Amino acid sequence: MHELSIARPLAKEIEEKIKGGNPRKIIIVVGEASGFDINFLRHSFEDHIFPEKKWQGAELIFEKEAPTLICPNCGKTIEEATQFACPDCGSNEIDIKSGNRVYVKEVICK
Ligand SMILES: [Zn+2]
Ligand SMILES: [Zn+2]
Repeated sequence: MHELSIARPLAKEIEEKIKGGNPRKIIIVVGEASGFDINFLRHSFEDHIFPEKKWQGAELIFEKEAPTLICPNCGKTIEEATQFACPDCGSNEIDIKSGNRVYVKEVICK
């Protein structure tokens, strides 16, 4: 699977942040529950997006984000993604709070 479809909207986010500037460092958060592969994302950026946007000098940093779950019933945050029921109220309607997205955390310009 090619990851350009996810890299493109991220590139747009970067463009909005740099406002025509030249990025020196780009930090992208990849949620472990997002299903996206960092190596493929790196390839999409370094081999497709960077040459296209002339961002070749930029340093690309990926930060992994562990998934966090939340119980919609009592509001408890569950750190362990292996649990499928709330340890407090026993509800098994668990929502993903974080770690399921890919987003641009920070862009530092030259
Ligand atoms: Zn490619
Ligand atoms: Zn609960």
